[in-house]
Amino acid sequence: MSPHERELRSRAVQILSGAGLLHGSWIERQRGCGRKTCHCAQPGDPRHHSTYVYRQHQGKLRQLYVSKAQRETTRRWLDQDSELRDILEELWEIHWQRVRAGEAKD
Ligand SMILES: [Zn+2]
Repeated sequence: MSPHERELRSRAVQILSGAGLLHGSWIERQRGCGRKTCHCAQPGDPRHHSTYVYRQHQGKLRQLYVSKAQRETTRRWLDQDSELRDILEELWEIHWQRVRAGEAKD
């Protein structure tokens, strides 16, 4: 095993051994709340921000509302998921090349 592969595996283990994992797309939306007395009704004033995670799951698009208090953690969970996927992508490629080179002997 190359030092690079060892490094990839050890990072994957680190992520899997405790980091939160959430798969989906991070979407931030701005909208007006509809109340005429709210600042968001004024043209040019900031509108309300809301954050969602979207995920295609079993043929359906699921939407998850992320409250303000959960934004940072949720963002981190998504980032960790994407880091793990990148690591897997690299490991798959390493093993693809191994089979190609005839190194996957029984
Ligand atoms: Zn408003």
